[in-house]
Amino acid sequence: MIAYIKPSKCDKSPFCPAKRVCPVNAIYFDETINSYKVDEEKCIGCGKCAKVCPQRAIEMI
Ligand code: SF4
Repeated sequence: MIAYIKPSKCDKSPFCPAKRVCPVNAIYFDETINSYKVDEEKCIGCGKCAKVCPQRAIEMI
């Protein structure tokens, strides 16, 4: 499994807790979609980001 961030739910906070908790630094802000995004090459599927996202914008798929 990997994490997927729904752009419509992401609140784009500069303090994104999901980004901070990711152990492999897989979450980055993608200007082209104006949302945080998961680098699929880096994600190890730990699920930590999904647990801390206050918007519940992250799904494990
Ligand atoms: S599932 Fe884990 S490794 Fe993947 S983006 Fe979320 S915190 Fe990072």
